[in-house]
Amino acid sequence: MDGIKTINELPKTSATTIKKFKKLGINNYFDLINYFPFRYENYSIISKIGLLQEGEIVTITGKIIDKKNQIIRSRLSLQIFLLADETGQIEINFYNQPYLLNLFKKDQIVSVAGKIERYGRKLSLKPQEFEIGESKIHTGRIIPIYPEKNGLSSKIIREKIYYALNYPPDEFLPQEIIKYNQLLDEINAYKQIHFPSSKTQLLKAKERLSFDELFLIQLSSSLVKENWKKEVVSKKFIFNKEIDNKLKSFIDNLPFKLTNDQKKVWNEIFNDLKKSSPMNRLLQGDVGSGKTVVAALACYFSFLNGYQSLFMAPTEILAQQHYQTLTKLFANTDVKIGLITSNIKETNYKNQKPNIADIIIGTHALISKKNNYQNVGLVIIDEQHRFGVKQRAELKNKGLNPHLLTMTATPIPRTVALTLYGELDFSTITQMPKGRLEIKTFFIKKSKRDDCYQWIKKQIKENKAQVFIVCPLIEESNAETMKSVKAAKKEYENLQKIFSEFKLGLLHGKMKTKEKEQIMSDFKDHKFDILVTTPVVEVGVDIPGATIILIEAAERFGLAQLHQLRGRVGRNNKQSYCFLFSENENKNIIDRLNLFAKIKNGSQLALEDLKLRGPGDIYGTKQHGIIELKIANLNDYQLIKKVKKAVEYFIINKKIDDYKNLKQRLKNYEIEKITND
Ligand code: ADP
Ligand code: MG
Repeated sequence: MDGIKTINELPKTSATTIKKFKKLGINNYFDLINYFPFRYENYSIISKIGLLQEGEIVTITGKIIDKKNQIIRSRLSLQIFLLADETGQIEINFYNQPYLLNLFKKDQIVSVAGKIERYGRKLSLKPQEFEIGESKIHTGRIIPIYPEKNGLSSKIIREKIYYALNYPPDEFLPQEIIKYNQLLDEINAYKQIHFPSSKTQLLKAKERLSFDELFLIQLSSSLVKENWKKEVVSKKFIFNKEIDNKLKSFIDNLPFKLTNDQKKVWNEIFNDLKKSSPMNRLLQGDVGSGKTVVAALACYFSFLNGYQSLFMAPTEILAQQHYQTLTKLFANTDVKIGLITSNIKETNYKNQKPNIADIIIGTHALISKKNNYQNVGLVIIDEQHRFGVKQRAELKNKGLNPHLLTMTATPIPRTVALTLYGELDFSTITQMPKGRLEIKTFFIKKSKRDDCYQWIKKQIKENKAQVFIVCPLIEESNAETMKSVKAAKKEYENLQKIFSEFKLGLLHGKMKTKEKEQIMSDFKDHKFDILVTTPVVEVGVDIPGATIILIEAAERFGLAQLHQLRGRVGRNNKQSYCFLFSENENKNIIDRLNLFAKIKNGSQLALEDLKLRGPGDIYGTKQHGIIELKIANLNDYQLIKKVKKAVEYFIINKKIDDYKNLKQRLKNYEIEKITND
């Protein structure tokens, strides 16, 4: 940023300290003052020594009149200082800090904060913080406590931030917005967030800085949206009587009747597709609510215009499944369907290359690889959480500017949507296809594991139930994938003994595509009863006959993930069951799993998840590629609404080019940050 001093310019700061700051990503004074405290200590009561009382937490300032070192035993020494002011004197006892004997010279003025304790008839001060001279930074006030990382102490951080606050950034919010929302000015907000003069001021500072954070994010996505509106799709869709008839007859010939919600969202999408500016819509719908067929309709409209559609799925298994589903859905049409993954290339039309198909299904490789498509009118992105911004950029690099539909079963709470996905339009399916039953969900105590196995055996025997058994989630890196594969294999062997009278299959991420395909299709055909699997089945897998899912180490999954897993069953009209196993007996964990067992509705779960996790970690932000907010709280709907109003005001009344500081600040919040890689 212009005119902001770099961290190298900090006076009286060792090279090692500077290096440590840089390692934290703190490169200049602005970064530094944006390193926020996570709590505070109140040392603002300043007392004369003669007036001290037992139990008080105070700051005193006085002169060192005596000092001594007392060795208690080999690893324990006491440094005792006698501090005096005009009203009296008091002992201050430090433990194991002999360097203080040199630092605190005789007759020197020092300020010390801490708790007053009584030893026999004498009072002494148990020091928490001190500084040479009168109170200034570390004592005599509410002091900030920072997360200590890379061996940087809270005290060093505090000292450097105190200094950097002398060089605050220039105000970037328009005055009208500050006034209208009764915000602190920015300089004050930074001062108060670090060195609050009162709790009220601290709250005001938090409000202002949260406002800033939300404002920049929302403004940035609004600007993206404005720009998108000005764009023109490279393949414009036309709509006429003939197309209308074909669409209608396609809908009439579906194997089921569309739900009202499916019709509603299809209409929204349909209207977008008729426009010349590109669609950027996010279709949300709980697991099993029937998003695929809506996407298929959009693809059909694209086909009727003579354009191709790309249909991206997050995993090969899912791409494969979509290929089968769409092949069936389009069986009575001329639509050619292709499948391209890193391992397979095929079409439902013999002897043709998949890249000339009308609907090309694949993993992300579809657009990132060299594949060139000339005629793409529509791109569908299924079950992704990056919501298209990046993909749009990639497509544009290829000279494509198609309509874009992203789909997700992870419901996004309104506040999150407003804040983080302002550039998108939303469509939501809330209704489930008719006849679906609620999935009965139970948390199973350790002691009930065997009973549960027995019950499942009975269900397989009597009701021909099919069962998923999901092995624990083990985090992502490649080595870890191997670990989870190993765990799955071991569990598979173990379960073969327990369920010896049944047939079991094993599915994990490291299998060859052909193997995976075979397993999935065998399971679909009920060639075996139990599928033991790693969490690869999490997303989208559709085995209508499966009615039981058992999740091991359920506590390792986020609520949204558990919900996805649970959605693997309950996909037909039979009663389905979800069992959560956990060896962990921590009360919070059990409460969370019991909460999950109670709530069946995805959007309600997302809200609960947001509350449980707090602002920084929206349903596993890292996993889903959502930025972590530094200070704003996504549960603060009031503030989010205020900011939305301010952003709208700005967009309508102001020009960004007239606000140099704001423009600079926006750069820090480039939309890429929101969508992460
Ligand atoms: P998701 O929204 O999770 O992607 P799918 O599109 O996979 O859900 O649909 C789940 C199942 O529901 C599929 O087997 C699909 O054929 C079926 N389905 C979709 N729409 C309807 C409907 N209107 N009536 C009955 N079944 C439907
Ligand atoms: Mg799906």
